[in-house]
Amino acid sequence: MIIFKRVVQSPIHIRAKRCLSSRASGILSALNISLDKDIEGVYDGEWKGSGDIIESSCPATGEVLARVKTASPAEVLEALAKTREAYLHFRNVPAPRRGEVLRQIREGLASKREELGALVTLEMGKIRTEGVGEVQEFIDICDYALGLSRMMNGRVIASERPGHSILEVPNPLGVVGVLSAFNFPVAVYGWNLALSLTAGNATIWKPSPTTPLTSIAITSIIAQVLKNNNLPGAIAGLVTGGQQVGEAVVRSTDVELISFTGSERVGRIVGQTVVSRFGKSILELGGNNASIVMPDADLSLAVPGVFFGAVGTAGQRCTSTRRLFLHRQIASDFLERLQKLYGSLKPGDPLEHNTLLGPMHTREAVNLYANTVSHLRSIDADILSGGEIYSLPSPFDGGNFVRPTIAIPKSVNMKDRIWSTETFAPILNVAVFEDLEEAIGWNNAVPQGLSSSLWTRDMRNLGKWIGPSGSDAGIVNVNAGTSGAEIGASFGGNKSTGWGREAGGDSWSQYVRWSACTINFSNEAPLAQGVNFNND
Ligand code: NAD
Repeated sequence: MIIFKRVVQSPIHIRAKRCLSSRASGILSALNISLDKDIEGVYDGEWKGSGDIIESSCPATGEVLARVKTASPAEVLEALAKTREAYLHFRNVPAPRRGEVLRQIREGLASKREELGALVTLEMGKIRTEGVGEVQEFIDICDYALGLSRMMNGRVIASERPGHSILEVPNPLGVVGVLSAFNFPVAVYGWNLALSLTAGNATIWKPSPTTPLTSIAITSIIAQVLKNNNLPGAIAGLVTGGQQVGEAVVRSTDVELISFTGSERVGRIVGQTVVSRFGKSILELGGNNASIVMPDADLSLAVPGVFFGAVGTAGQRCTSTRRLFLHRQIASDFLERLQKLYGSLKPGDPLEHNTLLGPMHTREAVNLYANTVSHLRSIDADILSGGEIYSLPSPFDGGNFVRPTIAIPKSVNMKDRIWSTETFAPILNVAVFEDLEEAIGWNNAVPQGLSSSLWTRDMRNLGKWIGPSGSDAGIVNVNAGTSGAEIGASFGGNKSTGWGREAGGDSWSQYVRWSACTINFSNEAPLAQGVNFNND
């Protein structure tokens, strides 16, 4: 989706002290974010920023939280050079020692877990438990990477030649550029930073232009740990800004690996640019995720599971449930129960602990929601729930609240736009199927392949679903919703979702440079495959 970015071209300006709501000022102060001056949004060992100013706004109220000085083109180049220099130093630090640095980062994050979670809520808009959950995810991946720092093993391979051995050796890769999306402003960077750092790389982060404060708060904590360990700050550099800053990082031949999380549209451009310079990329792009409910499913699990998948984070997760396929036998019962849950939802301040429905991130996202609903109406879809934009009393009258929507389009042709594109908003499209093969066909018929879930108690359905004729997505769940992954398994999707894998599993092996080393410890020098290059 297109990010709404307010750019104010004013390198020199004078402004009066702002009056920030106490709701916002308490959270910013707890993280030492200045309330009365523009904030530097570049870190390469020193804090700076002389590029465009971007405003960070609160999606729940519309209040401008801060103005951030982003990276100028020269500052991006300088940060890239410093990151490379930092890598040249850091690659020689032993991996377990790097793990110890990660342990300290973990402690730094844990000591500010609630405050950082509140900042995510304030700036991104997701409800508080999810904001804190994101910080917890960063803490979890630090634990994981600390363990990895003693387990990033290579291999010894049997050689066909006598007196020879072959080793597969992992070494640090270089500089890793992390470009992240607005909807996970902490966790996605965490997955990348933790693995990249334990692998011995330096990382440069280009966060979403609408969540700069979160990236600054996170980077400040990491910078302090690096400083305490006498390590260069550019091991974890930060360049805030918009498209141009992102393009400069992606184009740079000083960056070995670009890990990009965002839309399919931008991912396609990023992927092509990186390939054209023979760089490596990890692409984590849009999803269009389906839940399938069989007649034997336990609806007391399935209904709340689908409800969270479709409505959690106000439908702004890459893994949000966007398509729901119900078996004819349970369809009306399921929808009745689901509509009841939708009816109980109340929008509100995402900072309040009992709020389940926060705002959309931007005005543009609200427009996307409204346009999609009016398209659904124009194609005669049944709108069972929602379809409206909320207007809340002050101070939330400037917020981006929409009513989660359930729709039944007339057509079940998955090539139709309403089924085949990811609409990053809480809109759930429903279709009714007769047998599992039909539903799996629909699940697989869209360009994206991120997450999918089947609700059943029948082992035969399960076997089919996770087997060769089953779901073609990267995440294939059973009796668990499409969203809410843990860091232990590798995370990512197939097809137009980009084939990337991050976090657990063997994702770490992408962050290292692999060498195959043949070692001859004999007194002969035979060639492989019995080749004889000798006239005797
Ligand atoms: P986006 O594609 O608009 O932006 C992502 C990042 O790319 C931002 O930092 C942006 O500034 C930068 N960017 C924009 N144009 C660029 C260019 N030409 N070159 C380099 N960088 C550029 O995405 P968004 O709206 O922030 O995030 C929502 C999207 O992200 C959704 O499609 C969602 O599904 C996807 N997402 C995917 C995953 C996953 O793991 N698969 C996770 C989170 C979000």
